[in-house]
Amino acid sequence: MIKTATEIDAAVLIEPGAPSPLKQRDTVCDHLFSKREEAEASVAEDSKAVDKLQERLWAERKRALLVVLQGIDTSGKDGTVRGVFNQCGPLGVEVTAFGRPSEQELAHDYLWRVHGATPAKGMIGVFNRSHYEDVLVVKVRKLAPAAAIEQRYEQINAFEKHLCENGVTLLKFMLHISRDEQRQRLQERLDQPDKNWKFNPADLEDRALWDEYEAAYEAMLSRCSTAHAPWRVIPADKKWRRNALVAAIVRKTLEEMAPAYPKPDWRPSDFRVV
Ligand code: ADP
Repeated sequence: MIKTATEIDAAVLIEPGAPSPLKQRDTVCDHLFSKREEAEASVAEDSKAVDKLQERLWAERKRALLVVLQGIDTSGKDGTVRGVFNQCGPLGVEVTAFGRPSEQELAHDYLWRVHGATPAKGMIGVFNRSHYEDVLVVKVRKLAPAAAIEQRYEQINAFEKHLCENGVTLLKFMLHISRDEQRQRLQERLDQPDKNWKFNPADLEDRALWDEYEAAYEAMLSRCSTAHAPWRVIPADKKWRRNALVAAIVRKTLEEMAPAYPKPDWRPSDFRVV
């Protein structure tokens, strides 16, 4: 049976304050879209609906949606952007990928570059990686003092609350794949010549730190899933299911935001096009 968007959302939502052991969360979740054809039909419909809703959001020009995508290497962040937002007009969606900070970015506080990339009113912003790298890779690879990193969870919660209070709805998705699925995806990058360009030897170093990353993700989920900006953990071993789940929740969120076309302060009948 096909699940409703509300049922899907309830299955992936991390309740604020709840512990989030990732090992206990299934990375497959057959019961959420059991058939590939159903998932593909669903994502096709939802992504068209997202485009229509974004047009309303733009017409209203009062609020914005920010979709945050996090996940370890090969978890499918790029594929999710392509799979979910491919029906949207290119003027309405702004995707920002956060890589290693530049010298100028490092000269500022870690949220400086992030705030600058948040979506303007009327837009959908998508973050491919985000400020959460500053409590993930930075924590695991000890790129900042532990005490400074410890303060960031609350700083991030406060920053996101500030965004919410200023018209930005946040949707945060962690794309969750199994260790074995990552092994297969990395191996494909070595085996298939047209995927070689995606391979980065540093990905193997991060893979060797799997347990440390898992612990950092769990801390992020339990400390930064808030009432104003909860986390959702998406089972992402199957790309088609991952896209369908994310698209369903993006659509549902925009429908709940219910952006409205502005009422003109003139009557169309007062004008005549000659
Ligand atoms: P991706 O792996 O997302 O396809 P890249 O190959 O450009 O893209 O990798 C981006 C890299 O930047 C990742 O290894 C990520 O951990 C790193 N990165 C992102 N944000 C930070 C940060 N704040 N500090 C250090 N490294 C970061």
